[in-house]
Amino acid sequence: MLVLNFVMQLVMLVWSYFSVVITDPGGVPPNWIPNLDEESGGAGQWAGSDNDGVDLGANQSAMLIEPKHQGVRFCQKCNQFKPPRCHHCSVCRRCILKMDHHCVWVVNCVGAFNYKYFLLFLFYTFLETTLVTVSLLPIFIALFTDDEIPESPGNLAASFITFVLNLAFALSILGFLIMHISLVAGNTTTIEAFEKKTSPKWRYDLGWKINFEQVFGKNKKYWLIPAYSKDDLEWLPSFQCVEYPTRPDSDDL
Ligand SMILES: [Zn+2]
Ligand SMILES: [Zn+2]
Repeated sequence: MLVLNFVMQLVMLVWSYFSVVITDPGGVPPNWIPNLDEESGGAGQWAGSDNDGVDLGANQSAMLIEPKHQGVRFCQKCNQFKPPRCHHCSVCRRCILKMDHHCVWVVNCVGAFNYKYFLLFLFYTFLETTLVTVSLLPIFIALFTDDEIPESPGNLAASFITFVLNLAFALSILGFLIMHISLVAGNTTTIEAFEKKTSPKWRYDLGWKINFEQVFGKNKKYWLIPAYSKDDLEWLPSFQCVEYPTRPDSDDL
């Protein structure tokens, strides 16, 4: 039973890990322009074929100086508009939708399209390291008591090191997991949290349930696997490249 649990969690861990690594975190679509008709000045739309090849340089400059378009953000490095909650990653050298952070462990940015997979990777790594720690606990306890240990000195040393390493991993990942659970519950990315945008009226905080669904989707069958249902892909704001739904009483940007 223990071995079966170990193998199943390992499969989920590896699946989640490679999903984070190979999934594009979300780039800004070419020729994306903000929909400036919207009152917020931040809602976006896909630029149609009519805009292809049109030099937007002059218009862009004009928009940026006009006070009424203060909400519009522009990336000088990518030379393009930035959709809401998008940030430029200096490692990837491009703008990433709803960027959370650039992760060296997965050699990729964690953003709109792979954030859920990253959280599942953390979750399964925590489960796996905890399972190993708990299964080796009897040997660890026996080391400090008078109990007889039916292991060779070599096995004992390996078990001891494995126990300590797994315990250290499990505890550090638990801290990271708790931090991300609170971020998801408040609909905040790590970058936004550092930018101190977690005021009591954080504009994207729509309650923990909706906030959770915006990352994990509405279909419960998909919550624990690194994938989304077709319906979720169609409604999730992260995949639409538009302004995210905001709370009615929000007043900050
Ligand atoms: Zn950029
Ligand atoms: Zn990056």
